[in-house]
Amino acid sequence: MTVYHSLQELQDLAEDRGVAVWEIVQQADMDASERTAQQSYDKMLEMYRAMKEADAKYDGSLLSASKKAGGDGEKLHQYNVSGRNLCGDFVGKVMEKAIKMGESNACMRRIVAAPTAGSCGVLPAVLLSYEEDHDAGEEQMVQALYVAAGIGKVIAENASIAGAAGGCQAEIGSASAMAAGALAFLQGADAQAVMHAAALSLKNMLGLVCDPVAGLVEVPCIKRNSYGAVNALVSAQLALAGIQSAIAPDDVIDSMRRIGNQLPCELKETGKGGLATSESAEHYLK
Ligand code: SF4
Repeated sequence: MTVYHSLQELQDLAEDRGVAVWEIVQQADMDASERTAQQSYDKMLEMYRAMKEADAKYDGSLLSASKKAGGDGEKLHQYNVSGRNLCGDFVGKVMEKAIKMGESNACMRRIVAAPTAGSCGVLPAVLLSYEEDHDAGEEQMVQALYVAAGIGKVIAENASIAGAAGGCQAEIGSASAMAAGALAFLQGADAQAVMHAAALSLKNMLGLVCDPVAGLVEVPCIKRNSYGAVNALVSAQLALAGIQSAIAPDDVIDSMRRIGNQLPCELKETGKGGLATSESAEHYLK
């Protein structure tokens, strides 16, 4: 039986068995769900293709039910192809896909919660952009998705992936950590560097509050996906350069749990604090 409850255990299992992190995550999934390797792989591939389809079906002319969200992904696309892209092609594309997915969620389109609907743009933005720009195959992308899932599982078990329980650090923060680890893997990082990419990413999101305006997953959620995705890129690059988190990866997750518990309920998806109670927010739906 393959079981892990911490990033260190996940890393140790991969190192002891001489396999990649994704293989441990897949084996654990097979053991827990009684799926064959093929069934497990097919399920993950289905998730990846659903992300791809959601990205391809983005419609910049749609508005959310509030009529306040929509169209920013298209604006970013137009800017990215204008020849004035400040951030470079890859980063610009990652930002664009993240915003598009967040808007698709706000417009009630089909998305993959990864780990939640509010943070659905981070992981696909990074993975889909990587596949497009690095000529990676779907098999590699599915493996990266396993890596992300393994990191997300540990965070969910030891801290939280719900804004209502841990603030936005638990949603965009977790998604960013998952994406950072997956990206580091894609670029050839070993198991230890994968965990440090995730830790570096999460550290930079600690304390992020959940303060959705009007209780809608629009402001600040949609744009936060873009920041979470770029945060993942920075973290993966740091880890790939051999830079480690001074705080052990599992300690970062434990810190996130404690910070989440210390956050007042006003800053945990109740709409009673932060941006949600700003003067501008009062006029959001008017
Ligand atoms: S602000 Fe709250 S609702 Fe919005 S993405 Fe973050 S955790 Fe989710």
